[in-house]
Amino acid sequence: MAPSCMDILRRLSDYLDGDLPPRACEEIRAHVATCTDCAALCNTLRITRDLCRKLPSEPVPPEIRRALRDVVRAHQGQRRRPAPPRRRA
Ligand SMILES: [Zn+2]
Repeated sequence: MAPSCMDILRRLSDYLDGDLPPRACEEIRAHVATCTDCAALCNTLRITRDLCRKLPSEPVPPEIRRALRDVVRAHQGQRRRPAPPRRRA
């Protein structure tokens, strides 16, 4: 029987770790090949994990930390502030 997206997602992390038996890997590979949602998630998860693995050995440079903080702040500001009041057509 074909596994559902939820089945796949639940095992995706183990799959990327190589912790799954070959048969389960095959199921996931087959599903990801036909399901764009799971394929996108699989890619995102893999990239995130790669980044997380690299981070501890290399500290984040201050300029990147600052840039990240600016992005977060800009997003928070946008969410809190409604549209500017003095915009006229
Ligand atoms: Zn799926």
